[in-house]
This record gives sequence, structure tokens and C-alpha cells, in this order.
Amino acid sequence: MSNAVEIVDLHKSFGELQVLKGINASVKTGEVICIIGPSGSGKSTLLRCVNLLEQPNAGQVIVNGVDLTHRDVDIDAARRRLGMVFQSFNLFPHLSVLDNVTISQRKVLGRGRAEAEKIARDNLEKVGVGEKARAFPAQLSGGQQQRVAIARALSMDPQVMLFDEPTSALDPELVGEVLTVMRQLADEGMTMLVVTHEMQFAKEVADKVLFMDGGYVVEQGPASQVIGAPQHERTKTFLRRVL
Ligand code: ADP
Ligand code: MG
Repeated sequence: MSNAVEIVDLHKSFGELQVLKGINASVKTGEVICIIGPSGSGKSTLLRCVNLLEQPNAGQVIVNGVDLTHRDVDIDAARRRLGMVFQSFNLFPHLSVLDNVTISQRKVLGRGRAEAEKIARDNLEKVGVGEKARAFPAQLSGGQQQRVAIARALSMDPQVMLFDEPTSALDPELVGEVLTVMRQLADEGMTMLVVTHEMQFAKEVADKVLFMDGGYVVEQGPASQVIGAPQHERTKTFLRRVL
């Protein structure tokens, strides 16, 4: 299998603060990678560098053979390869669910209304909120809103989906419905990078788990290894706190 994403010696600083200190990782097509680690370890910054919401200071992000950090790359086109789902859903409150899922398809991809709505409805159906197309975000539960956000990202035909703690803002009883949708995507072969504190999800779904601390990848490997039999003291300490 080929690498969908290759992260090579990635560095990112904010002023004096070094947040990523040389990250190396790769994701094969169809794989699910879960990124775990304490708050402040650089997990969100890593995802944000992967889709160029942050500009890395050094290193490369290569998505399906295209180096997104190359100065000649069209950043908007490059970013379209990657779908992103945030902890905070980020739906437009003044737009209906359907409009939330069609607006970027129309403005960014130039799809016509009928085509965009067809794709939106298919994806809303797929994540189990097909009947909410005419509702507004505030009328939905957090779990429903996050599933709409996933449908919105999917409607842009991403090559890779990035999830940044997609269930952390949800009431506990709503976490499962979002994880179920993510599991379904994984089963369908979507390539995914998932920052999560859901260790059970990581154990069951991840092909590989990456433990980050202090701007480094401290260890990476199958979940059975990194979560089941961690080698490093920092990983053990972290897992004792979250498990
Ligand atoms: P995590 O997602 O693992 O909790 P983050 O990547 O959000 O960690 O943050 C890592 C460090 O980078 C933190 O110390 C955070 O305060 C800092 N940081 C993140 N984004 C910015 C920013 N835009 N400007 C300055 N510092 C930032
Ligand atoms: Mg974060």
C-alpha cells in the first residue's frame, strides 16, 4: 500500500515556543492512525500543519505524493485533499443543515445546486441525520451537529479525513453515535488521522497509535503495543491517567 500522508521532520514554533520538534509519521491509504497524548503536547498543531491551517517552519507534509509545503503548491487546492472535523463542530449557525453541507461544495468546488444537494443528502443520510436537512444547527444535539460536520467534510471528496478530538465536546451519551460513524468510515476504507482520548476506539479501530508528548512522537505502533504494552515511561504515565 502507498503512503497517503507522509510527515517528514516537521517543525513548528509559535515565537519562542517550539511546539513540534521533528515529527515523522506516515499513514498508508485506508489506514486509521490515532494520535494520543497529554494536553499541550502538539496534537492539534500537528493536524493543523497537515492541512496547512498552520504553516510549518520546517519539514514536509506529503499527501498522495504532493508536497503541500512546497512553495509552488496551490495551498487552497492542496487543502481540499483533506477534510477536517473539529472538537467544536464549527457549523454556520445562520444556515440550515443542508446549506452548511452545500456551501463549500458550491463556492469552492463550483458544483451546481442540484448536484451539491444530492451529494449533501447522500452524506447526511450516511451519517444518520438525513431527516435534519431543513433544521438549523441550534435545533440539533451535539452528536447530530458533529455528524453534520462529518457529512460536510465528506461532501468535499477528501482523500484524507482529519479529526481533532471530535467527541471531546459531547455529553457522554452522545459520544457513541459519532464514534459509530467514524468506525463506519474506517470500515469503508477512508484514510483517517484521529486525535482522540477514546482509548477503546483507538484499540478497536486504529491500525497505528502515535503517542505524542512535548512536541515529539514518543512511540508509535499497533494499539496492542502502544496502549497495551507501552515501552516508555511517559506513555505509561499518560495511560495510567486516562485509562
Ligand atoms: P494539544 O492539541 O496536544 O493539546 P496544541 O497543539 O493545541 O496541543 O498546543 C501545543 C502548544 O502550542 C501549547 O503550548 C499551545 O499553547 C501552543 N499553541 C498552539 N497554538 C498556538 C498559537 N496559535 N499561538 C501560540 N501558541 C500556540
Ligand atoms: Mg488539541
